[in-house]
Amino acid sequence: MEDTRIRLAHGNGGRYMRELIIDIFDRHLGNPLLDTHADAVALPPLDGEVMVTTDGFTVDPLDFPGGDIGALAAHGVINDLAVAGAEPRHFTLSALIEEGLEIDRLDRYIASFARAARQNHVSVVAGDTKVLRRGEGGGLYLAVTGIGVRRAATRLAIDRVTPGDVVIVSGPVGDHGVAVMLAREQFGLSGTLRSDSASVLPLVRAVRDFPDLKFMRDPTRGGLATVAHEIARASGHSVSLQQQSVPLRPEVASVCEMLGYDPYFLACEGRVVAVADPFAASEILVRWRALPEGRDAAIIGRIETGGARVILETRLGGRRVIEELEDDPLPRIC
Ligand code: MG
Repeated sequence: MEDTRIRLAHGNGGRYMRELIIDIFDRHLGNPLLDTHADAVALPPLDGEVMVTTDGFTVDPLDFPGGDIGALAAHGVINDLAVAGAEPRHFTLSALIEEGLEIDRLDRYIASFARAARQNHVSVVAGDTKVLRRGEGGGLYLAVTGIGVRRAATRLAIDRVTPGDVVIVSGPVGDHGVAVMLAREQFGLSGTLRSDSASVLPLVRAVRDFPDLKFMRDPTRGGLATVAHEIARASGHSVSLQQQSVPLRPEVASVCEMLGYDPYFLACEGRVVAVADPFAASEILVRWRALPEGRDAAIIGRIETGGARVILETRLGGRRVIEELEDDPLPRIC
């Protein structure tokens, strides 16, 4: 009898499942709405435009330097609401647990999810658990829906991007991708690099009221280059990135060089890419650099006329096209 691990019985709707929910999920996430255990709950009225987002998290391994699947899932959903200009308020959480996962580890991941939610004033209003048979799941998958509110005055929209605007990033790119890669230990590499997994709410709150801030996105899966492609495609203009301006940690640069990855395609989990007119951009840069999360913020490029492409201006003065990612070089990163 493996009492320390998840069994199929923990998903069968009986006493084991009820006890698991009480011992772990209710203990960490409990609040008056969740505690009702009702089939559906009524949310309190929200004072603005109601925004919804959803995401699934399948990171492998479940623990990595700088975070774990619980914190990652909370931050990921908070950040999608944040860059859309919303304040996150509520989550729903669906946990798909693989038979055999240590109960202590599950407890730790849910505690970590709960901590990140609490720190950002988000409450979990509904939840569900399922147990997958051994071999049919990656230990733990989390599916999270986020509900937030946005003041109607916010005018962030990708189609406001025009030539002459500049592109800003709030910090070094590729940290999360490389930290997870190193945690897999499949390349015989190790290092001290940590994931940037964090809430971007402090960064966003500091700048979201600038009328000439046009668009923000968190460069997660697909990285900075994929966000640049999304901007180019949606605006019909080209995005030109300056290689020497994009902040990159030496560890990320050297791992990428060794393994042949382009760091611009690697995931971040705590960064913001913003597009703004040049005057607003310099003010955004000042505000970001004044925050610990934005110390290394930089203006990294601009929007140009001439086709919906992404161009890299290299350190040596050349210009090359960055093609769109065809397949993710690092699956199960988030
Ligand atoms: Mg996003």
